[in-house]
Amino acid sequence: MPATTKDPYLKRDHVAGYDDVDRQTKERLISKVMVDSRFGDYLYGCYECGICVAACPSARFYDFSPRRIAQAAARRDVDLMFQQMQEDIWECSQCFSCLRCPRGNNPGGIITIMREVAVKEGLHSAKDALAGYSRIIYKIMSTGTQVSPDMLQPDAFPDWGPEVKDVSENLDLWRRMLPPETMHTTTTGWKVADRTLVELYVIWLDTGALDMIAQVDQGIHMILEEIMEEKLEEEGIEI
Ligand code: SF4
Ligand code: SF4
Repeated sequence: MPATTKDPYLKRDHVAGYDDVDRQTKERLISKVMVDSRFGDYLYGCYECGICVAACPSARFYDFSPRRIAQAAARRDVDLMFQQMQEDIWECSQCFSCLRCPRGNNPGGIITIMREVAVKEGLHSAKDALAGYSRIIYKIMSTGTQVSPDMLQPDAFPDWGPEVKDVSENLDLWRRMLPPETMHTTTTGWKVADRTLVELYVIWLDTGALDMIAQVDQGIHMILEEIMEEKLEEEGIEI
C-alpha cells in the first residue's frame, strides 16, 4: 500500500522529532535504505573527523552535516534517520566532495539512497523538494532535451535568479558554447529522434523511474504516459 494512502508523514514547520509517526513505519523506511545493495559500500563506520563537513558546500550554507548523516546511519538511529529523510537530505547538492572521507564513506551516496526511498514512498518532503523540477522532468522526458537556450527569458525562470536575464541577453554566446547546434525555439534545444525518445521511455519504465514520478507528481506522469503511448504506437512497439 502506498505510504501516502494513510499519509503518516505529516509535513512539519519545525524539527519536531516526528514522535507521532509510529516506530514500525520508521523502521520499515530505514530498512529499505539499509538493504539497498549500495549501502554497504557507502558506510564503513565514522571517525567523526569532520573532513566531510569541511569539504561539503551545503554545510556552509545550511544547518546540514554529512557527518550527521554518516553517524546516524552507523548507529542505525531510526528516529534521526527518519527526521533526516524529511529534512536534511534535501539540502545536499550531490557534489560528492564528501568522498574525501578517510574511512571510505560516501555520505552523499547514503543521501542518494535515502532520497530514492523518500520518492518511492511518496514522502511529503520529496514532493516539496521536487515540485520545482516538474517542468524540467516533463521537458526531458517529452523532448529528450532539457532547457533550450531560448527558454532562458528573464520572466520564465524567476526562481533561477537574476543570472537568467544576463544569459538571455547573450544567447548567441551560450549557443556557441553548447556542443550540438541548437534550434532557435523555446520548445526544444535540439531534435531528438523519436526512436531515441522511445528507448529512453522504456529505460525509465524498466528502471522504475516512471513509478517514482507517479509518486511525486501524478499529473506529469499521466501526460508523459499519453505522449509516450502515442510515440510507441507510431514506432510499432508494444510493451
Ligand atoms: S554530496 Fe552532499 S553531503 Fe556530500 S559534500 Fe556534496 S553536498 Fe555535502
Ligand atoms: S569524513 Fe568520514 S569519518 Fe570523517 S566525519 Fe565524515 S563520514 Fe565520518
